[in-house]
Amino acid sequence: MPHEDAVFPPGSIIGILGGGQLGRMTALAAARLGLRCHVFCPEADSPAARVTDAATVAAYDDEKALRAFAAQVDVVTFEFENIPADAVRLMADLVPVRPGARALEISQDRLREKAFFNGIGLETAPWREVDGPESLSRAVAEVGAPAILKTTRLGYDGKGQVRVDPGTDLAGAWRGFGADVGVLEGFVDFEREISVIVARGIDGAWAAFDPVENRHANHILDTTTAPAVLAPSLALQAIEAARRSAEALDLVGLLAVEMFVTRDHRLLINEMAPRPHNSGHWTMDACLTDQFEQFVRAVCGLPLGSPERHSDAVMTNLIGDDFNLWPEILAEPGARLHLYGKTEARPGRKMGHVTRLNRTTTA
Ligand code: AMP
Repeated sequence: MPHEDAVFPPGSIIGILGGGQLGRMTALAAARLGLRCHVFCPEADSPAARVTDAATVAAYDDEKALRAFAAQVDVVTFEFENIPADAVRLMADLVPVRPGARALEISQDRLREKAFFNGIGLETAPWREVDGPESLSRAVAEVGAPAILKTTRLGYDGKGQVRVDPGTDLAGAWRGFGADVGVLEGFVDFEREISVIVARGIDGAWAAFDPVENRHANHILDTTTAPAVLAPSLALQAIEAARRSAEALDLVGLLAVEMFVTRDHRLLINEMAPRPHNSGHWTMDACLTDQFEQFVRAVCGLPLGSPERHSDAVMTNLIGDDFNLWPEILAEPGARLHLYGKTEARPGRKMGHVTRLNRTTTA
């Protein structure tokens, strides 16, 4: 493939598909390294566009706009995984795209994702593809209940997850589900949820941030605690799972892998995202190189930085009205506030985050 090992030095222009806070924080990190960013997204006045040199406001299926964008940038990446794969494939014919379309296509689809993990020897919760009420009842018989019926595609906010318990009316559950195909997943009685973010460079070099523990509220990440309290062997196993996934995808960029730690101390892989991740925001304040800079370095073919953690940290998302806490957070010694420049604090909307540091207590 052409451009496979092209390097983009300071002064180059990174094209970012997507204009949210992940693009914004990527652009800020890029600016610090003397790189420029051009954002492409359908929304005017996006959080990322507010801090970048250039922005294109157009739909992801606007081929003309995509071609014009490709002509103005040196390398393309994306900051969320619901970008239509067609747009990424079109880009890839015109300009280097890192990570490539394959990582995107697998992570966009839960079925492919689970098959991918199992195919490289990583354990997931038991799962079955389901495409109707009969296959649902077969799947429940095989996987057991409780279980969760999920849509295969992400980005279905609110829609898409139906819990199946022993005795649940399966025909009714299928009708309520509303999609043509889904994945039934055994319910994991987990001890904790963790994630690992690994960076991989064009030369195959890799660097992982410490595994962290994530707690959710209303299906949205609430806090990330770094590091996760884990037996050292399990922490190594988690890092190895993320590294192996990035390697198998031949990924250049970042890969965030979310996992369950079961009560009997096994790791089950839940899902992955080939981009910076909310559970890596703590790295901005607690690591020598943060996830956004690491992402920029990888995408531009530059050497990876040290992911070393110099402080323990707890990151808390500011969702919706939590935004109004900003004066108190600013007044709190040691709290590091990050706001995303969004004007409207709608319920469930990520408005910013705060990181609170502690001196490192664990190796
Ligand atoms: P997901 O949409 O797969 O990211 O799931 C969102 C959250 O729902 C996860 O972070 C877990 O807290 C919970 N969850 C998802 N799948 C399972 C499962 N199989 N068993 C138990 N909890 C789950």
